[in-house]
Amino acid sequence: MDKRQRPQVVVSKCIGFDACRYNGQTLPDKFVDKLKDYVDYYPVCAEVEIGLGVPRNPIRLVMDEAGATVLYQPASDSEYTQAMIDFGEVYFDRLEAVDGFILKGRSPSCGIKDVKVYLGKTKVAGSVKGQGIFAAQAFKRYPHAAIEEEGRLTNFRIREHFLTKLYTMCSFRQVAKAATMAALVKFQADNKYLLMAYSQKEQKVLGQIVANHEKLVFDQVIKHYKEHLGKAFIRIPRYRNYVNVMMHIFGYFSDSLSSGEKTFILDSFEKYRNGKIPLSVPLNVLKTYVIRYNEGYLLEQTIWAPFPEELMDLSDSGKMEDLVDP
Ligand code: SF4
Repeated sequence: MDKRQRPQVVVSKCIGFDACRYNGQTLPDKFVDKLKDYVDYYPVCAEVEIGLGVPRNPIRLVMDEAGATVLYQPASDSEYTQAMIDFGEVYFDRLEAVDGFILKGRSPSCGIKDVKVYLGKTKVAGSVKGQGIFAAQAFKRYPHAAIEEEGRLTNFRIREHFLTKLYTMCSFRQVAKAATMAALVKFQADNKYLLMAYSQKEQKVLGQIVANHEKLVFDQVIKHYKEHLGKAFIRIPRYRNYVNVMMHIFGYFSDSLSSGEKTFILDSFEKYRNGKIPLSVPLNVLKTYVIRYNEGYLLEQTIWAPFPEELMDLSDSGKMEDLVDP
């Protein structure tokens, strides 16, 4: 992967950048800290930006009578929904490029999911789950960006998916900037097996877009491509998707291998499929043979390292079982 590519990442300021939480605290995070050397961060605290100050009385999400979610401060009996929306509009207008977001979980401003939305202005009214107001704006404005909460990123597979999407979107941004069909054709070729692992359907659609049989102008092609690239990366791929792709690559040189070598490689696929070893293990085994048989086209593939290897940390929150194929 091109080392000059630095993803542009908006991050909740309270995650180790400033003591801007309602109680005057900051919450540093190991992963966010490590990523500082590899991305350009844009720390922001939306609640401070709308003038709530530090420390401040807490705010919360409340569902009003019309079913709309409002940002409400019980201590002052004030609503801040419009102020937050206005701030978001101005803030995002000023950003040149964004590839991803790391936002603080459970916050009524920054939380991307499972944020408590109270069913009335008193806590006794019960609650449902929703999304912070600033986070909702981020999703609306950047539907194809890599967006995650710092807490979820302790899960190995969620983190791997986030980094893969973040770096792919960053690399795609350079292609859009280069504005040449040649750059787009190369991007599609280099990402062939990664895209196939994420979504065979979208990988084919993207191939057709690049083929451009309708002879569309570049701006239309790139817009269409971005939309489908975003769709390809919506979900974490299943284990079996990666195994299918690895089998495909294996097919390039399997006839030249001894039965012992074949068994060893296929065994590593099986262990990965059962969640016993991380993806990097069978991929590295496979890559050794790609190097040995000098398969130039395969060596160029981003699937081997879709993000910097230094960020490949296998530590996990222990919730991987949630993500194992059924
Ligand atoms: S969660 Fe967002 S709004 Fe709340 S303190 Fe952190 S950065 Fe500020």
